[in-house]
Amino acid sequence: MSTPYLITVIEGDGIGPEVMSAALNVLERVKKSYSLNVDIVKIEAGDKALAKFGLAIPEESWRIIKSSDAILKGPVGESAGDVVVKIRRGLDLYANIRPAKVYPGVKALKDNVDLVIVRENTEDVYIRAEYLLPEDVAIALRVISKRACRRIAKIAFDTAFKRRKHVTVVHKANVLSLSDGLFKNTVFELGKAMYPDITVDEMYIDAAVMDLVRRPERFDVIVTTNLYGDILSDLAAYVTGSIGLAASANIGDDKAMFEPIHGAAFDIAGKGVANPTAMILSLSWLLKWLGEKKNDVNMSAAGREIENAVIDTLARGEKLTPDLGGGASTQEFTEAIISRII
Ligand code: ATP
Repeated sequence: MSTPYLITVIEGDGIGPEVMSAALNVLERVKKSYSLNVDIVKIEAGDKALAKFGLAIPEESWRIIKSSDAILKGPVGESAGDVVVKIRRGLDLYANIRPAKVYPGVKALKDNVDLVIVRENTEDVYIRAEYLLPEDVAIALRVISKRACRRIAKIAFDTAFKRRKHVTVVHKANVLSLSDGLFKNTVFELGKAMYPDITVDEMYIDAAVMDLVRRPERFDVIVTTNLYGDILSDLAAYVTGSIGLAASANIGDDKAMFEPIHGAAFDIAGKGVANPTAMILSLSWLLKWLGEKKNDVNMSAAGREIENAVIDTLARGEKLTPDLGGGASTQEFTEAIISRII
């Protein structure tokens, strides 16, 4: 038998262990039916690791992360920045892809949302270079490079190519004329040179926030810088019904990490009511990505099977968690999904 793919699992904090346990139960189910050759390694990372080792990602955990094929990450609490930024930057996972879609059966603020936010993941103010100057003046540096703009633009165009072929660049180049100007111009240049079939338009971040609520159907793929992307995608998740539904991917040239966009939700932790959909869809996406990368049709099929089972369960509206207006527990909802997996 060939070497198994190594999936590193970070359970996370708050509701993290609950939603991760749901996702791993789903994985166990498809592992058998699709004969998947994967090894799962759970590592210590997050708030508990920080308290225990003084590091949110201890060295041994980092060694395992670097040697794995893909990472499945639950939501992390206070140390989220340390965990996520280290993995994104350390593994150069430069594209943060966050789809926002209304699933059948889910009561959403808007019915007609089907968009993908492609967020640059390594630069902008997330380089975390802040300085305190005399007289209580604080400054933060923002870095935008042409290289990073080009590669994120390429991901956005490739994503749009498989969808409705429309890319919107979101920026604030009327204020940040050099940095956002570079971002915007690079996207337009690449589109013109390499993707003649894709329509590109632009929007200021303030207008985009408004349109995401007012007329979200106008968006297909949004490409934007790191901070705007972070803010836009939480709003997009909310507009589609529940923050508990939205999965995201952090993709580099060789490795990728998949995670829910929601946080550790300490307010509902330990109550058994967290919606595991985002975590389960993160697993589904991981399997599809690994399948494509490794040319493994079973892996891709297992990923699709999980996604279909989730959509079907939501559409039937029987065993929904409280955030979706139901009365089911995390476990009951997960069992309903597992029962639909062939
Ligand atoms: P962060 O800053 O890490 O995003 P946060 O506390 O601002 O954390 P979340 O942890 O995402 O944001 O929680 C925001 C709200 O959404 C909370 O009221 C929480 O209960 C709810 N929530 C988040 N995730 C889920 C989930 N999977 N299922 C049900 N409710 C959720």
